[in-house]
Amino acid sequence: MISKKIESVINDQINKEFYSAHLYLQMGAWFDAQNWKGLAGWMKVQADEEFAHARKLYDYLITRGGTVVLAKVEAPPDSFKSVTDVFEKGLTHEKLVTKRIHILYELAEKDKDYATSSMLKWFIDEQVEEEANFEWVVESCHKIGEQARGIFALDHQLGKRKKG
Ligand code: FE
Repeated sequence: MISKKIESVINDQINKEFYSAHLYLQMGAWFDAQNWKGLAGWMKVQADEEFAHARKLYDYLITRGGTVVLAKVEAPPDSFKSVTDVFEKGLTHEKLVTKRIHILYELAEKDKDYATSSMLKWFIDEQVEEEANFEWVVESCHKIGEQARGIFALDHQLGKRKKG
């Protein structure tokens, strides 16, 4: 049986993962509104991944005999300055998520909840990739400097991202 404290922080993380899904879907909608179909597609895949993260934590909590309690999801920002701004905000968000996952891991270790520590290792590794993905796009944006031709190429490239 999982402790009430760990149950509560995992429930909180489930909510945060749903927020991430909301954030990226909203970013996708912002791209869709401007007909950047590839950038929108990339964000939609990202949103689906965040939903899958929430479900992973949900399933874990149930397996450990915990109770899942869903809470209200905060509304994400819905207007952005530029393509670069969107991805910079995405990167900042992922860095915040990494910090949260690390705090969760420390709590699990302190609680001697080794099963939760082990489960969280997947998320720690996942965050390395998430940050690297956003970092790559942010760097590309900086090289392009918001020029339509460059964004067009980026849109084409990111549009290739497949689900899963
Ligand atoms: Fe996530």
